[in-house]
Amino acid sequence: MRLDAGHAAVTISGRDKGRLGIDDIMVVDLDGHPVGTEARPSAETALHTQVYRRFPAAGAVLHTHSRAQSVASRLFAPRGVVRFEGWELQKAIAGYTTHASVLDLPVFPNTQEMPELVARVDAWLDAGKPLHGYLIDGHGIYTWGKDMAETRRHLEAFEFLLNCELDLLRLKGATP
Ligand SMILES: [Zn+2]
Repeated sequence: MRLDAGHAAVTISGRDKGRLGIDDIMVVDLDGHPVGTEARPSAETALHTQVYRRFPAAGAVLHTHSRAQSVASRLFAPRGVVRFEGWELQKAIAGYTTHASVLDLPVFPNTQEMPELVARVDAWLDAGKPLHGYLIDGHGIYTWGKDMAETRRHLEAFEFLLNCELDLLRLKGATP
């Protein structure tokens, strides 16, 4: 979560994400440097701080590795994007007021080199394309919002929409 214009609270590296308590959280600046602690931040901190830098209104970032996210990321990686069209739940994403819209969720290649991923996200944004979240191939999703409530809503909506697309492909026996 964002703390102020220059700081965020992130998870300490290696902690059990299902059992996080106050002692598992640390403060970093928006370049990912620890503030007031010797603890090491989570490996993907650079992707979180990038969102806070690029979206001044972002108050929270969530990153998860669900099964639907992982499978969809593999299926849609060759296309580079999951395109949602005509789903009522697109309206759960901030700024979307009708199902008659196009919502793109890009899929970026996975890498252990965070600067490579940061550069891909920057390139997407610098091209002027809307971005509310992204998948990393074989890995998971990032999404954000103005506060934790909106971010949780975005995460739940993307999870639902990805499951719908996967169900349709499964039922149709098709590939994207
Ligand atoms: Zn991850």
